Amino acid sequence: MTDTVQHPVQHPVEPRTEPVLHVMQPWLGEEEVAAVAEVIRSGWVAQGPRVAAFEAAFAESQQAAHAVAVSNCTTALHLALVVAGIGAGDEVVVPSFSFVATANAPTYVGAVPVFADVDPATGNVTPATIAAAVTARTRAVIAVDQGGMPLDLRAIRAWCDPLGITVIEDAACAAGSTAHGRPAGSEAEIAAWSFHPRKVLTTGEGGMLTTSRADWAERARRLREHAMSSSAAERHASVLAPPESYSEIGFNFRMTDIQAAVGLVQLSRLPAMVARRRELAARYADVVAELPGLRLVADPAWGTSNFQSCWLEVLDDHPMDREELMAHLAGAGISARRGIMAAHRQPAHAHRDHVPLPVTERLTDRTVILPLFHQMTESELTRVCDALGAAWRA
Ligand SMILES: *Cc1c(COP(=O)(O)O)cnc(C)c1O
Repeated sequence: MTDTVQHPVQHPVEPRTEPVLHVMQPWLGEEEVAAVAEVIRSGWVAQGPRVAAFEAAFAESQQAAHAVAVSNCTTALHLALVVAGIGAGDEVVVPSFSFVATANAPTYVGAVPVFADVDPATGNVTPATIAAAVTARTRAVIAVDQGGMPLDLRAIRAWCDPLGITVIEDAACAAGSTAHGRPAGSEAEIAAWSFHPRKVLTTGEGGMLTTSRADWAERARRLREHAMSSSAAERHASVLAPPESYSEIGFNFRMTDIQAAVGLVQLSRLPAMVARRRELAARYADVVAELPGLRLVADPAWGTSNFQSCWLEVLDDHPMDREELMAHLAGAGISARRGIMAAHRQPAHAHRDHVPLPVTERLTDRTVILPLFHQMTESELTRVCDALGAAWRA
């Protein structure tokens, strides 16, 4: 997503009596406050027991064999590429239709991102869109559960695995989504998660790497902590600290215990957050079904979305285009957001050759993300629905 919840609205709005309705608000409460206070009182604030507990709880809830907490999803993607052995000259197929971190990550290891188009219904890559971008140099794919809409990872792995192409799932948005009756990300060889406040589950900043491979988990655990032979927690546990060694060039990608304490509380809220988000999305779907000029993103056949980003496509027969609809919503004090960006149009990536990306270009130009958050009230939901109805009748 290109936006963050902390930013004030960027466009001027008329003075109003009602407060501006933002696209997202994290659901944080006294339990998080108490959990942070407890960590601070304990005197251990860096990566330690809370991080270990959060990793164990996250692995259990997401049905992942191993979970390694990191500083954010961007560092998780970077580490995933390192442990998967992707390096200089390798090509990594990525959707252009994603937050820019997906396309940036391969460049951190000297690899080249190669853009693939997406499926118009879900905004996600498919075996067919990946196949169109694969070359003899393709070593990996970063497949995104865009906005929380689950990928058909089974179909993608069935195509990539026999070719020796590693599939990295960018599950930044997918906590609480499901695919084939299991948590999204659970069938990935390696997946990267985000806990930024724009996502459903937040630790302020934070990320997680999950993997089915013990060797990759073990290396990622070392690499996130400068590739040190013993962790700070292990050294703290011994009176005579053992000498440490550094086997390779590592990183500081650690999460703090303060963040992990928040994450543990947030994880306990996840089922309620997802249930409420799906309820609100269903209400939007009912209203949009009556407005033929709009299409609301919907669950695919193989899974359920957490509706982290509940987006609309503005169709040809709508009286307003996307910019007009956003201005109309802003006039009603509703701060919607432009849909997912297209990385291939950004100056940082515009020089890259790519296959035609017609669906990406259509969706990035025509989609609007609607306000949707746990604490959203009936009257707030009605305000958005009424504004959408008024736009259609304009
Ligand atoms: C948010 C997001 C990221 C980056 O997550 P951070 O935790 O902010 O680094 C990466 N990929 C996708 C698809 C995202 O939506």
